[in-house]
Amino acid sequence: MQLREPIVLEASPATAEGYELIPVLSAEEAEVDRQMHICNACRYCEGFCAVFPAMTRRLDFAKADIHYLANLCHNCGACLHACQYAAPHEFAVNIPQAMAKVRVDTYSDYAWPAAFGTLYRRNGLTMALASAGGLALFLLLALLINGTLFPGRLAGDFYAVFPHNTLALMFGAAFGFAVLALAVGVRRFWKGISPGDAEAVATGAAALEASGAVLKLKYLDGGHGKGCNNESDRFTLWRRRFHHLTFYGFMLCFAATGVATLYHYLLGAEAPYPVFSLPVLLGIVGGLGLIVGPVGLLVLGYQRDPAQGDVAQRPMDRGFIALLLLISLTGFGLLIGRDTGAMAVLLAVHLGVVMAFFLTMPYGKFAHGIFRSAALLKYAIEKRQPDRIKLGSE
Ligand code: SF4
Ligand code: SF4
Repeated sequence: MQLREPIVLEASPATAEGYELIPVLSAEEAEVDRQMHICNACRYCEGFCAVFPAMTRRLDFAKADIHYLANLCHNCGACLHACQYAAPHEFAVNIPQAMAKVRVDTYSDYAWPAAFGTLYRRNGLTMALASAGGLALFLLLALLINGTLFPGRLAGDFYAVFPHNTLALMFGAAFGFAVLALAVGVRRFWKGISPGDAEAVATGAAALEASGAVLKLKYLDGGHGKGCNNESDRFTLWRRRFHHLTFYGFMLCFAATGVATLYHYLLGAEAPYPVFSLPVLLGIVGGLGLIVGPVGLLVLGYQRDPAQGDVAQRPMDRGFIALLLLISLTGFGLLIGRDTGAMAVLLAVHLGVVMAFFLTMPYGKFAHGIFRSAALLKYAIEKRQPDRIKLGSE
């Protein structure tokens, strides 16, 4: 096997004469292209994850293919630790790193509005903490000006501090913006990875398979069920477990808010709710998951082999994890202190962190779950279609 120069395709100026305009590959994309050609000749890692079977359905890798494969990769590290062509071999194959460098570009390339994506990517941790601190400070100042910063003991009556309609308006707008920005982003991503692909229509079976892969984090098992590589050749399932705790903890906290909203509007039962009520119990269980999961992911992140993945993205990863952790810590602080004179302060800090999370979630690490789900859906659709490469060789 010979080393192959990265291919950078030039945009043809002759589109008007019927030639196809081919997007120029960035240096990071050209590196994925180079490595995928080596892997396509080798195919040792075919059973590890979805990336390699998807790769074998292609002989060349256009921008759309590279973006798709980059988001299909879960950065489990299995193919790096198994690779006979990894450094110090001259081929220097490092699929998780090459994919990670492209993947982070897709978060900002497809983000809406795009400028926010670039901003967050460059300053993830700082942006996350500054937004949370700034918004909490804003709410604290508003309370100070109103004279309600220390209103005495209110028995957990949050609406005596911030009226219900004010909270519903503020958080409804922030959440609505986040959902809209994510929806536009993932739509742009889907169109970007399936250009002119009229067959890319999800069937029930494909959607079910993709959902299962997302919910079980199937491809964090290393392809053999023993888990990811993190700091060495040793396999560990803890990365998958901490992801599960974080994801399901977040979903339970979200469910707690949803149930509380139903209590409010359907049953006319207003907060505060007793500790053994459904919204509070869901919040406690979810909050615990949202402490253990992010702490575990932070520890694993610090231990991770720097060769695996892209170290330049760590501030963004940590910014996202820090916000999740702050949401649960300030939430528990509020639960414990809701019957004290500090309740208004605790509430303002918690709300500031939650608001910062909503506003930054379309531009950072949260987007990886959405884009990866879309890539897994494309994979589930694609594998049900005839393989053009095999058909061509018959
Ligand atoms: S990562 Fe290495 S071992 Fe795996 S398919 Fe690619 S070249 Fe082969
Ligand atoms: S790092 Fe893991 S998920 Fe990514 S391509 Fe390699 S084996 Fe697949």
